[in-house]
Amino acid sequence: MIRYSLRSWLQVSLAIGVLLMIGDTRAQNNPQAWRIPWKVSDYNRPLPQVITPGTESNQLQAGKPPSDAIVLFDGKDLSAWASSRGGPAKWTLKQGHMETGSNAGDIVTRQAFGDCQLHVEWATPSPPSGEDQGRGNSGVYLMSLYEIQVLDSFENCTYADGQAGAIYAQYPPLVNASRPPGQWQSYDVIFHGPRFDPEGRLRRTARVTLFHNGVLVQDHVELTGPTDYMKRPPYRPHPDKMPLLLQDHGNPVSFRNIWIREIPENVS
Ligand code: MG
Repeated sequence: MIRYSLRSWLQVSLAIGVLLMIGDTRAQNNPQAWRIPWKVSDYNRPLPQVITPGTESNQLQAGKPPSDAIVLFDGKDLSAWASSRGGPAKWTLKQGHMETGSNAGDIVTRQAFGDCQLHVEWATPSPPSGEDQGRGNSGVYLMSLYEIQVLDSFENCTYADGQAGAIYAQYPPLVNASRPPGQWQSYDVIFHGPRFDPEGRLRRTARVTLFHNGVLVQDHVELTGPTDYMKRPPYRPHPDKMPLLLQDHGNPVSFRNIWIREIPENVS
């Protein structure tokens, strides 16, 4: 009897051991593990580059970009920009900021960008003039095609997917985090552009995450294609990098402290 119990106990223990081993093997055999070509906690894995973080802006003074950012506008000159019609950018340079309006036309960066982290600060006029889409309208166009709406949305009613922080005509912001007109506001964008195969078929949609004045308003939304007025056109193949565009919608809107950090291909 004792011998029988001992044998049963050994059999059960052996079965539990085998099951634990199988479980452990399965845990290690993670089908997603290929994504990271390094062993866990490997001291040989290259250390990230050391950079100096920027400083926060306030209403009186623009902050400072991180040390590894490409500065697109520091308040001193428009040399990183051109008119989308060709020739130099015609926006007005004022003390520490630039201003659209007066039919100056859209402006585009001279350098092309794709996947990126982007910081832009903007302010709409005070006192405000106009209403709905006619009050402080401008826009930040990623790759010149995908607009993040700039608008005075402080006590100014318009359609949801056309207010500040919207992916224009596609996604309203999660909340309206607008500051009053005349105050500086910030956009911090994480953008992953679309990808196309050699035949021009869409391989990956564009995705946008957006913070408006530090508040999450777009959470990794997938764009339906380029943004447009009253329609949602399909994707058309284009290069992986294209200029950033700022819109002149005929309203005076100010911009300052614009910088960008490209996201390397292998992590996007
Ligand atoms: Mg606009």
